[in-house]
Amino acid sequence: MKPPEPDHRHEIEAIYAELERRPLPRQCEMRTGCCHFRLAGHTPMLTRGEALYAAQGVRASGRKALKPHPDGACPLLGRDGRCTIYKNRPFGCRTHFCAEAGGMYPRKHVADLIQRLEALDERLGGSGSRPLEAAVSDALAEM
Ligand code: SF4
Repeated sequence: MKPPEPDHRHEIEAIYAELERRPLPRQCEMRTGCCHFRLAGHTPMLTRGEALYAAQGVRASGRKALKPHPDGACPLLGRDGRCTIYKNRPFGCRTHFCAEAGGMYPRKHVADLIQRLEALDERLGGSGSRPLEAAVSDALAEM
């Protein structure tokens, strides 16, 4: 696969910044309930831009590859129980399917941002949303 075009970072950061500006009260307290995939019953799905941006966070933390979490939790969950790429975490981790944080954003409130992620995915040659571990591992392998 060809190297990603350089503008993905700016568009991803713009999308995440726009999400932060939305007047939808949510408060992530980093309880990490949503990071325990087996318990939560779901795994975040990432578009290619999100995966590349998350992979940059992994690289910045000094790692070159993901290691499975022994409890079946997100491989990006640290031993201290915190997300190791919090600033680079994917869109799904920001839209709070966690009840403690205020519950999931209604799709209609973020549909335009999802469309931007999908458009970026297409521009980057992605194939739609993929489960976090596979998407980030592949992005890391390309770097
Ligand atoms: S990327 Fe971070 S916030 Fe998202 S599920 Fe993994 S550990 Fe949790």
